[in-house]
Amino acid sequence: MTSLIKQRTNRNISNYIRKSGLSGYLDTTMKLNILTITQAAEGLRKKEFTSVELTESCLRQIKKRNKDINAFITVCDVSALDEARKADEMIAKGEGKPLTGIPFAVKDAICTANIRSTGSAKILDNYTPPFDATVVKKIRDEGGVLIGKTNCDAFGHGASNENSMYGPVKNPHDLTKVAGGSSGGSAAAVADNMCIFSIGEDTGGSIRQPASLCGIVGLRPTYGRNSRYGIMPMASSLDTVGPMTKTVEDMAIVMECIAGSDPLDATTIMDAVPDYVNEVKGQRSKVKGLRIGVPKEYFTVDGMDPEVKAITNEKIKRLKDLGCEIVDVSLPHTKYAIAVYYIVVPCEDSSNLARMDGIRYGVRNTEGRTLYDMYAKSRAQGFPEEVKRRILIGTYALSAGYYDAYYKKAQQVRTLIRQDFDDVFQKVDVLITPTSPFPAFGIGEKANDPLALYLGDIMVSPAALAGIPAISVPAGKTKAGLPVGVQIMGPRMAEGLVMSVGSRLSFVF
Ligand code: GLN
Repeated sequence: MTSLIKQRTNRNISNYIRKSGLSGYLDTTMKLNILTITQAAEGLRKKEFTSVELTESCLRQIKKRNKDINAFITVCDVSALDEARKADEMIAKGEGKPLTGIPFAVKDAICTANIRSTGSAKILDNYTPPFDATVVKKIRDEGGVLIGKTNCDAFGHGASNENSMYGPVKNPHDLTKVAGGSSGGSAAAVADNMCIFSIGEDTGGSIRQPASLCGIVGLRPTYGRNSRYGIMPMASSLDTVGPMTKTVEDMAIVMECIAGSDPLDATTIMDAVPDYVNEVKGQRSKVKGLRIGVPKEYFTVDGMDPEVKAITNEKIKRLKDLGCEIVDVSLPHTKYAIAVYYIVVPCEDSSNLARMDGIRYGVRNTEGRTLYDMYAKSRAQGFPEEVKRRILIGTYALSAGYYDAYYKKAQQVRTLIRQDFDDVFQKVDVLITPTSPFPAFGIGEKANDPLALYLGDIMVSPAALAGIPAISVPAGKTKAGLPVGVQIMGPRMAEGLVMSVGSRLSFVF
């Protein structure tokens, strides 16, 4: 009986796979975990398989691969199967919604009720929040199955996932390479089919860059589009939360669920949530005639990998072939973006992370004799070097006499960067650039050179400073087989547009 069910299930999956063009997978043993949200939801709705089977398939993959990849800090195997059973009941009663029964993972810097949330820092090693972040709650309310918490750079600080106190995440395409960061675990978990989609956080590239390095889709939404309630704050004037998915269509589905205003986050935007799924599908024919800006500053970056440049140029040509108008543009203040970002972020960090004192949350060191010793020792042992570095820089830059010269000046230059985008979006509809100047690099290769890592953020930090949406979609791979992503940036609230353009470029691994 079991083997009959297996055969039937496998046949159905192979149909989905054929239809979706994922036929590269056909030579491997058929596994439900390789499905996209769209495919899995269809299978669940048609009762081809259950959410329990789908969830078990993801859990098997985690069991097999997580020891090598280190994408998960916590795996919720017991509660996930309970949630999957409930989802199956919802579906049986005809109450299924787009994400009902779909297993997803959440970055560990995002709070999940009664599930340990460490932010990948030892100071929160024992922290179990009593509440869900709003985005997580929205997915769970739809019947999404929370399968686990993913590794990241501690509190989002990094671009290689090597600043996690739970070890680096390895790139599923090459285990000697980084997965990118800071949402490296969320990216690797999706890329390696350990879950169907995941949630990441992007302050200055942490969704888009690991998405690019792992060959998946990642969207940084407009600042305020998605609620940040329950996200461990890094730099409050830049933090955003967004989905990481296998396809752009899946991205639209998750965005429809999680976007929108939230009384618990005063920075959220009140505008109604558009029908992103229809926008992405309907737009397919409408890419024609769009004006696509190519900002020259993004193509003359020092140390840019020639294969990345070539793949991005191929995509520009593809858009031209689809009837888009390609326009050369300039964003003249791009050269200041890294300097501005690495002042604004540490300043806001140093303030936000002050709450991690070993008293209200997390692990307390009581070896010292004084109150000061307790703070100092708890923080010294609880934060990795990079977090300490940012706290030191930020505290210095905010101190009396320096505030005007650093934080205030950086915010003024940030306005110029934002104005560059405002000006350019008068002339073009969206911008296309690489997401990262280079593909995944070796683990340890840049670990002792924080500046080299900071410079890698050049393509992703400007959109963050301007608060505009930007998507990274897989665009191809290098000769060595490493994924390369391209980034589409658009004006505020143009998530539907950047997804639509992205959907025309997406490459399937
Ligand atoms: N690389 C960026 C940094 O280290 C990414 C931060 C983020 O988006 N969380 O600040």
